[in-house]
Parts: sequence; structure tokens; C-alpha cells
Amino acid sequence: MTLNELKISLTDCQKCRLSSGRTQVVFGVGNPDADIMFVGEGPGYYEDKQGEPFVGAAGKLLTELLESVGLSRQEIYIANVVKCRPPNNRDPQADEIETCQPFLLEQIKLINPKLVCSLGNFATQTLLGQKIGITKVRGRTFQRPDFTLFPLLHPAAALHQGNLRVPLKEDFQKLKNVLDKMKNPPDPSNSSDLAGLKANESQAEADTQPQQMDLF
Ligand code: SF4
Repeated sequence: MTLNELKISLTDCQKCRLSSGRTQVVFGVGNPDADIMFVGEGPGYYEDKQGEPFVGAAGKLLTELLESVGLSRQEIYIANVVKCRPPNNRDPQADEIETCQPFLLEQIKLINPKLVCSLGNFATQTLLGQKIGITKVRGRTFQRPDFTLFPLLHPAAALHQGNLRVPLKEDFQKLKNVLDKMKNPPDPSNSSDLAGLKANESQAEADTQPQQMDLF
């Protein structure tokens, strides 16, 4: 299946109750061959109307933050954990996430990014497979079987709580370090790079424990 075929297959999806209140399925947008993917929570009012993730105020902030680390929306791919708008922008419920999750995982598999940046609790818990608060894991890398996961605060949270703006910017600065390392991976023949590599490997190993699925 191609990414476009997956998108078309969801056009009239009725698998969960979110289908009843949506204007349209908001599948995702961006470069289908992206190395970097961002995953948010679910469509809001404007996203539901326009059929594109992150087009409202949170989207504007995300675009600014991306540009601050040298990324454009055209080179990345952006999707959400649930692809239909929850009524009144409420949180997606556990069964809705569980029902929609296979489509996100298939989307990630088809895009095959090196790095997936999860924005906020729902995306992070879904992709980490653990019910853990975003504040405990933000700004760190986690090695998943097919990609590296990098959780960040959700831009909408920073719009609602002004005190989260600085931590959100800090997350993006840490993301810049990760991107720089992706562009210039450590040279194992260099002893100081090797020490850093070993430290990263032990951290990654620690980060993937425990493996149990305990989402909600
Ligand atoms: S949220 Fe996902 S599972 Fe539910 S109707 Fe929309 S596409 Fe289907």
C-alpha cells in the first residue's frame, strides 16, 4: 500500500465515534519521503475545516519553531494520533486512540522517517508505548525499533500556558542538537566521539526499559 492509498482508504472511515462530528478526515501533510516526522494529538477547528494538521494558532507557532531550527514544513511530514476532530477540542479518548493508532503506525512505516517528534502527552504515550507524562521525557531521544523518538511539549499547551513557552523553545534547541548529530554522526575512529557514542548507546538502552505496553 502507498501513502496515498492509505489516505484514500480512510476518506470515509467510520471506525470510531469521532467520525460523526468531523468535517473531513485530516490524514497528514508534507514530504512523503521525509526523514523527520512530527505527530500531534488530533485536528482542531481549523484543521477540521481545512483538512490539514497544524493550521491554526498552534500551527503558526509550530512553523516558527521549525524555522528557528532550520526546518521547513515542506521537508517534514506532519500527522496526528487521531485523524478526526474530537468534539469541542476535547482530549481524544483511549478507545479512539487505540482504534486510530494502526493508521498512524502504517503511515510512519510508509514514510519511514529516521526521527519522529511527538508533540505532547498523547502522541508521546502512543509512540513510546508507556503512560508517562511528557514533562518526564521531553527533550530526550528514545530508540524505537524503526526510528528514533524525540518527545516535545505540544505548541497548543504553550499557547494556553504562557509559562511553557520557554521550555518549548528549549525542547526545539535540543532538537537542533539531535538534527546536527543526524547530519554529522559521531566518528567511531575519533576517541572523544567514541566516548560520546558509548554514552548515547547506554542512555538509549536505559530509555527503552521497560518495554511493556501500558498506555492508559
Ligand atoms: S479518528 Fe481514526 S479511526 Fe476514528 S473515524 Fe477518524 S480515521 Fe477512523
